[in-house]
Amino acid sequence: MLASFLLQMPLPGATDAAALASPRRSRYSLTIPLDPPGTILPKPRIFGPAGRPLVVIDAGHGGHDPGAVSPDTGRREKDVTLAVAQAIKAELIRSGRVRVALTREDDRFLVLGERSEIAHGIKADLFISIHADSALPGSTANGATIYTLSEVASDREAQLLAQRENRADIINGVNLGRQRTEVATILLDLAQRESMDASAGFANLLKREATGLIPFRPDYHRMAGFVVLKAPDMPSILLEVGYLTNADDAERLASEAGKQNIARGIRRAVEIHFARKLAAR
Ligand SMILES: [Zn+2]
Repeated sequence: MLASFLLQMPLPGATDAAALASPRRSRYSLTIPLDPPGTILPKPRIFGPAGRPLVVIDAGHGGHDPGAVSPDTGRREKDVTLAVAQAIKAELIRSGRVRVALTREDDRFLVLGERSEIAHGIKADLFISIHADSALPGSTANGATIYTLSEVASDREAQLLAQRENRADIINGVNLGRQRTEVATILLDLAQRESMDASAGFANLLKREATGLIPFRPDYHRMAGFVVLKAPDMPSILLEVGYLTNADDAERLASEAGKQNIARGIRRAVEIHFARKLAAR
């Protein structure tokens, strides 16, 4: 019964419609609620010259999910991430070397898995998720951190952050993220290992190119199991741009210069990343 249950689960790439098209009913048939056929993820606008590599910038949180909230100013993470993402988009368009798209351009909610699926759907070459951190009262934590995917968290704090960020998918106890079958997971793992290495490479490049523009924490590269980074086919990083709970960080993130510096740092790393890929061909 378990086997037949698994066989009826959609494989990656199989559409919900295809999964529904093979009705194998038996006395033991189970009803599994699926998304209604025809549910199509939003296709974002793509900016920049055709033929260039495509960078997708993901503004964390949105809609009913505000993310972290600054205790002093009440500023919400979802607004900070969107403003930073828009600054990065403008900077990458100005550079003219890449194409760029945002997973969201307004205040809307997206399930975590949908964010990388949107990027996958438009064949993105690089995925950058933007977030802002928060710390417990009394903490002096400040500065930016780059996270990449790992099954094993680099430390307890990284693990707790991933749990916090992954919680966006759980509403009223219902997990909105899609589950994958065991076989599909193994196949995905193989592809994912390769992009995990490329992601770590990009994290180091970003630290090098953005030093002086973005204040990084001493342990600037950390790893944990972020759902939003589980795209098997493109390098993916999550950038926590600073702490909303730290006055200096909050001021920097609210200022035009602060946002511009993040955008410039990312643009430099992005240009070198793709120049290297071109040279390696
Ligand atoms: Zn966040």
